Amino acid sequence: MTGANREGEGAAFSCQDCGACCAFSAEWPRFTLEDDAEIGLIPAELISASGAGMRCEGDRCAALKGVVGEHVSCGIYAVRPLVCRDCEAGDEACLMARARYGL
Ligand code: SF4
Ligand code: SF4
Repeated sequence: MTGANREGEGAAFSCQDCGACCAFSAEWPRFTLEDDAEIGLIPAELISASGAGMRCEGDRCAALKGVVGEHVSCGIYAVRPLVCRDCEAGDEACLMARARYGL
């Protein structure tokens, strides 16, 4: 995902009206190539106990605000993980996440 604030440039879907990929799996919003300084910009209470990624409540990222499928935003958009930046509205993972929520 995951760009829950993104306009979905040219894509068929609006991320602000979706958020499905931010609530798809606790395994999703994990850190990859971020350095300690970048991770340090994320509020500690939003990071998982293991430190491997974002804290999730069930499958939902703790930084996600709003109602999936209605209106959402990422509470840490400016400093969100790389996997979230790389997600493209309309790609395979996006479609899978949306399908789970009937979107
Ligand atoms: S599932 Fe797709 S449309 Fe929905 S927030 Fe993620 S990238 Fe955007
Ligand atoms: S950090 Fe933001 S963009 Fe990434 S999964 Fe969480 S709510 Fe979505």
